[in-house]
Amino acid sequence: MPAPLRLRLDGDALVRNWQTLDRMSGRAACGAAVKANGYGLGAVEVARRLAGAGCRDFFVSNWREAVELAPLGLAVSVLHGVRDEDMAAARAGVARPVLNTPAQVARWKAAGGGACDVMVDTGMNRLGVSAQDLADGLLDGLTIETLMSHLACADEDAAMNALQRDRFAALQGITGARRMSLANSAGIALGHDYAFDLTRPGLAVYGGVPRGELGEVITPVVYPEAEILQVRRVRAGDAVGYNATWTAKADTDVAVVNLGYADGYFRGFSDTGMVFARGQRLPVLGRVSMDLATISLDGADAVSEGDWVSFDYHLLAAALASGMSQYELLTGLGRRFVRIWG
Ligand SMILES: *Cc1c(COP(=O)(O)O)cnc(C)c1O
Repeated sequence: MPAPLRLRLDGDALVRNWQTLDRMSGRAACGAAVKANGYGLGAVEVARRLAGAGCRDFFVSNWREAVELAPLGLAVSVLHGVRDEDMAAARAGVARPVLNTPAQVARWKAAGGGACDVMVDTGMNRLGVSAQDLADGLLDGLTIETLMSHLACADEDAAMNALQRDRFAALQGITGARRMSLANSAGIALGHDYAFDLTRPGLAVYGGVPRGELGEVITPVVYPEAEILQVRRVRAGDAVGYNATWTAKADTDVAVVNLGYADGYFRGFSDTGMVFARGQRLPVLGRVSMDLATISLDGADAVSEGDWVSFDYHLLAAALASGMSQYELLTGLGRRFVRIWG
């Protein structure tokens, strides 16, 4: 079937972004978070391309995601750890668990262990065992590949960053872990003292800019495209779309395109989104609906039914326009897109 919607993906930009983050990681190795289907781009294709560029460490959330990557034969860590239901996949060597709780540690030890990773909480109070657990010998007997922690505020200039870094650094050498890993994308931009032995960027690999330092060096990867289904003239005083939120001040040509919030083009883009059509930048007007959005052709030349338009999805600007986070804009990209790598 011909593509109803296209997600154009710039494979060179993806690799360049990862190479940039690798360089910024200094002497630390640079991995990649490919959870949530590679932040919406497609985990298998992302991992394959990054592995080709030299990436050796991949992070997913759960074992279904790990199983999807298994044919690639990569080193994958499962951030959510391991449940009883996951033990078969874990024993089969599909990936390494990142153990987060004393119960997960006990489960892994009871199963005979093997190489694992461990998450330790340094202040975010999300996943992870505590520094006290480490001091109490919880991890004794484990073969730990990577001891990791996660920064809560790396995208801000918060005092918590240095606090977490110092708490994490104090754990160096006490677990027998072969490597230490703290920084996500934003953490890499905080400097080499956050990189330890291995970094774990996600967002910036995909073109996201969580901190100003990355704005100059990270390039967009994702370009959603949709097709114009209808062009119509809206008469002065008439309204467009659900709840009639936009009313024409003068007779206005508008185009209706086949993209909506079910595709991840969220309602926050109502009256704020922008589209490129035949080289012209045109505004979204009225409510974005589930499967459709409407754009103004006011002042536009030669745009007609059947044309493809490209949505302005520069993540930093699009996040501001829509009120969504850059993460949501990527991971929301839906299943109706045909993903086309160029
Ligand atoms: C998602 C995630 C990352 C990647 O974070 P970004 O902000 O996307 O770079 C790294 N580490 C952990 C534990 C994560 O959950």
